[in-house]
Amino acid sequence: MPGSWYLSSYKYKFNITHMQPFLAKLKEKKLVGLQCSSCNQVFFPPRLVCGQCMVKPDRWVDIRETGQVATFTVSYLKDPETGEVLERPMVLVRPDDADTVLLSQLSPEIDFKDTYIGMPLKTHWKDEPTGGLGDIEYYDVLDDDSEDLELRKD
Ligand SMILES: [Zn+2]
Repeated sequence: MPGSWYLSSYKYKFNITHMQPFLAKLKEKKLVGLQCSSCNQVFFPPRLVCGQCMVKPDRWVDIRETGQVATFTVSYLKDPETGEVLERPMVLVRPDDADTVLLSQLSPEIDFKDTYIGMPLKTHWKDEPTGGLGDIEYYDVLDDDSEDLELRKD
């Protein structure tokens, strides 16, 4: 049976009402996550439904500004004016009080070759937050006081 699906006429309304307290806190340079009261997972950014329990997470919890690099890759961006290709690390950040990750960038001063999984980070806020995810401009790198393990040599 022949058929067609006109994607350009298909409309989908994305409900972001569950995000409002989160966005309002971003404007105050504060982080909150949404916790599932069934499994206690904390979602940052908030999710409409907990995919594990299929219930609506309903408990707002404060999230610290610190986190770690969960994983990363390198993006190659061409500067539109100079034509120079810039290597920038794109990171998935796991905030210290959340069970999910967030796509972000590192401070422009960080060379991507120095990036590693577990790198400690701190939120770098935009000067004038507007109540959107872009208020987290990027992540600053914190001093890492952990030491390498003594490896056996036999
Ligand atoms: Zn759950």
